[in-house]
Amino acid sequence: MEFTNLTVKAAPRSPVRRLMVTLLDILDDWAFAKLDAQARVQGWQVRRPAPLIRVYRNPRFDTLSACGVCAGEGVTSRGPCLSCLGSGRARP
Ligand SMILES: [Zn+2]
Repeated sequence: MEFTNLTVKAAPRSPVRRLMVTLLDILDDWAFAKLDAQARVQGWQVRRPAPLIRVYRNPRFDTLSACGVCAGEGVTSRGPCLSCLGSGRARP
């Protein structure tokens, strides 16, 4: 079980609405099954913030941090930041 896909949903009271939510979930799973599988193979995080919406994120971005000299802008008042060579990211 992947904890990134856990969501807490209150079941709708109306049977029609419950049916629509179920159909939307089935459509959502079908539409994104291939993309989700590809993302997981690559080690990406997959989030479902809303029906028919996915957010894919490469966890390697967690290793990046903003340059302390230019605050992640890549430039200073004197021109391109010499500490990060204009990338805005601190080097490991
Ligand atoms: Zn910098």
